[in-house]
Amino acid sequence: MQIRNDLKYYGKIASDKLGYVAGQIEVTTKCFQHCRGCSSWHDSLQEFSLQKIKKVYLDLCEFKTFEHLTLTGGDPQAWTFLNEFLEWHLKQNKKPKLQISTAMTQNISEISLWQHAIDDVRVSLDAYSGSMYHYIRGDKENSPSKIIDKCWELRHPNLAFIITVYPENQCELCDLVILLNEHAKKGLSIRKIIIMAAIGEKSGKQERDFWNKWEHDKCAIMHNDDYIIPTNFSDDIQKVRHFCNLEEAKNVRCWSGRIGFHIKADGALYPCCLVGGEALKTNKAFCIGNVFEKSLQELYDKYIPTFFYQTEICRKICQYKQLQINLIGEQASKICLSMP
Ligand code: SF4
Ligand code: SF4
Repeated sequence: MQIRNDLKYYGKIASDKLGYVAGQIEVTTKCFQHCRGCSSWHDSLQEFSLQKIKKVYLDLCEFKTFEHLTLTGGDPQAWTFLNEFLEWHLKQNKKPKLQISTAMTQNISEISLWQHAIDDVRVSLDAYSGSMYHYIRGDKENSPSKIIDKCWELRHPNLAFIITVYPENQCELCDLVILLNEHAKKGLSIRKIIIMAAIGEKSGKQERDFWNKWEHDKCAIMHNDDYIIPTNFSDDIQKVRHFCNLEEAKNVRCWSGRIGFHIKADGALYPCCLVGGEALKTNKAFCIGNVFEKSLQELYDKYIPTFFYQTEICRKICQYKQLQINLIGEQASKICLSMP
């Protein structure tokens, strides 16, 4: 598999054990929806206290390499301490870039605070029609138009939409992309549309028809000159699955946990959001430790890149970016640049 040039740098950071670069924290398990493919809303209610998030944040700032923190959930809009945390974050000297992943179902009381404290806002929107929105997200109170209205109110300069495609909502993908482009043409600033195929046990079977339509929609959307929002489709999903199941994958260690992390609302630390169960089932066997008990540096040092593709779970759920980091980390770990 060809390695993307922009990721090579991260593979080297991983193999040299220089520190975390980016990661995400589930600040609360609470959310306002019951999405079909998600297991998180079944979790018992837990959330980060302000004191605990500050400690983890300051630990992260000790890593010279650290660049990017994502608040996720549940839904960060349901987190009791969101506004207090944003105010505190604004006052810090060393500030990592802050991203928030939300369904944007709630009114934002502190618009100016969001605009100043948050670098990136990612809104999940998986349907064009109200009926499909209810079906996918288990939420009868909201609809795509209500979510987009909230985005208009916020007018964040770095707003992105994430569309997760299941077999059931695939028929609405093109209409949704058209709709978002219409809003962009009217002046709503949308930095990007990110289109991902649903993963995990509850996502429905993606058979050949799904992938044929995926390729068709991808071609139609990417080559439409009328669209003004840059759109990304998850890269080479089928190639990733194919590679993960090859014998050679079993000789590749997981270096992703050397530059990234996923932290659950109970403080449990995982090497990536996939085994950490962001909107998926959490695989507790991959837990590295707990950030409420040990410093992130101690836990970082404890993580040993391991041949995780020998496990069925990683062969099933690992994604393009993580696989690329793992491949380049494995290559970089074997390079010796000393003079012959
Ligand atoms: S995907 Fe997000 S918004 Fe949907 S149920 Fe899961 S945590 Fe809630
Ligand atoms: S899913 Fe991929 S990145 Fe995550 S632990 Fe497994 S091998 Fe590593």
